[in-house]
Amino acid sequence: MKKIFLLGATGSIGTSTLEVIRKYPKDFELVGVSANSNMKKLEMIIKEFKPKYAVLTREHSFKDCDYCKFLVGEKSYEEILFSEDVDIILIAISGIAGLYPTIKAIESGKRVVSANKESLVAAGDIVLKHLEKYNQTIFPVDSEHNAIFNIFSRIEKNFIKKIILTASGGPFLKKEITERTSIEEVLAHPTWNMGNYITVNSATMMNKGFEVIEAHYLFKMEYERIDVLIHPQSLVHGIVETIDGTHFMGASPNDMKFPIALALFYPAIPEQKFKSINLYEKPLEFFKVDQRKFPLLEFCYEMGRIGGLAPTVLNATNEYFVDSFLKGKIKFSNLPSKIIKTTEKFINTTKPERGYSLEDVFTIDSEVRKFCEKL
Ligand code: NDP
Ligand code: MG
Repeated sequence: MKKIFLLGATGSIGTSTLEVIRKYPKDFELVGVSANSNMKKLEMIIKEFKPKYAVLTREHSFKDCDYCKFLVGEKSYEEILFSEDVDIILIAISGIAGLYPTIKAIESGKRVVSANKESLVAAGDIVLKHLEKYNQTIFPVDSEHNAIFNIFSRIEKNFIKKIILTASGGPFLKKEITERTSIEEVLAHPTWNMGNYITVNSATMMNKGFEVIEAHYLFKMEYERIDVLIHPQSLVHGIVETIDGTHFMGASPNDMKFPIALALFYPAIPEQKFKSINLYEKPLEFFKVDQRKFPLLEFCYEMGRIGGLAPTVLNATNEYFVDSFLKGKIKFSNLPSKIIKTTEKFINTTKPERGYSLEDVFTIDSEVRKFCEKL
């Protein structure tokens, strides 16, 4: 029985993780949860799972009860992360808010399972050094990386030529993006049901660009050896090509419970509990990406290659403008140009000669957001 601390329990990945825990009651127990704003959902989770700890980001009206202790603020994650009550930490927080707990989770020596790609995008070098220092691994939940991780870790590295991440193409694969494109159209993802932020990123293909950077750090692969292919059925998630030209493909339903369970059980493979796919039901298609329609993908490669704090700035401008779009302040058709232009303004400050620290990451992140606010 492994004990799980689930950060971001109230979100989409959090909800799928709870379904996995329900289906494997002999393997996992939920001992801690965290939430930001969704108190109703948190209350339901606490009533059902009776975790020992709950962390909230701000003051609240919950009272400690006989089984659950409530804590407030980012710093209090540590009390749980380092406690003997926890074996596995699953980070399902969205955005850069996942970075600090990721760093602390690595230090704890527990198994770190993470869906939070933004911590690798915003601070990949730091996270990587930290993993090396603490002799740790991140077990990725992101479906593409999870598929590749499962193939990659079973093949000797010098036999691997490249990796391919697949992308559904989002709602605008065959539809034009216009000045009138609405929030509803952007959030109508054809194959995945996810949180709003990542759904907007899927529609611009920024999500895939972030995943390229995430893969660069997770698998220590040069950008030239990471490709992206459109695969509208979202059944093949990741592909590993070996030096002989063989393509090993990882396929499962477009259901995050599959990669979550694989990451929790790794290297074991769990018994099947969720509906799988029938490969004869749909033809599997693969296409090249239309770079003109989705300029943010190539821009991510560019910022990734520049390295340093360039992806940190990109992550911050993206989080800021996607939030503005979701609040109805800017048009979807203007998102890529706003993100690219603003990121480029900071390019000269993104490669400090002395290297950079976690503090630099948080400093530039907040500078960029202040700058965007003024715009
Ligand atoms: P959601 O928006 O659905 O959930 C986000 C979670 O993080 C919620 O529990 C939310 O709490 C919490 N949260 C938000 N802001 C903060 C903050 N400032 N401090 C602490 N907690 C916070 O996101 P998803 O579940 O869709 O995504 C989570 C992560 O997983 C992201 O990094 C995303 O890129 C990645 N991912 C998601 C996939 C998916 O299918 N959804 C697929 C692959 C990767 P509350 O709800 O209480 O406000
Ligand atoms: Mg993904």
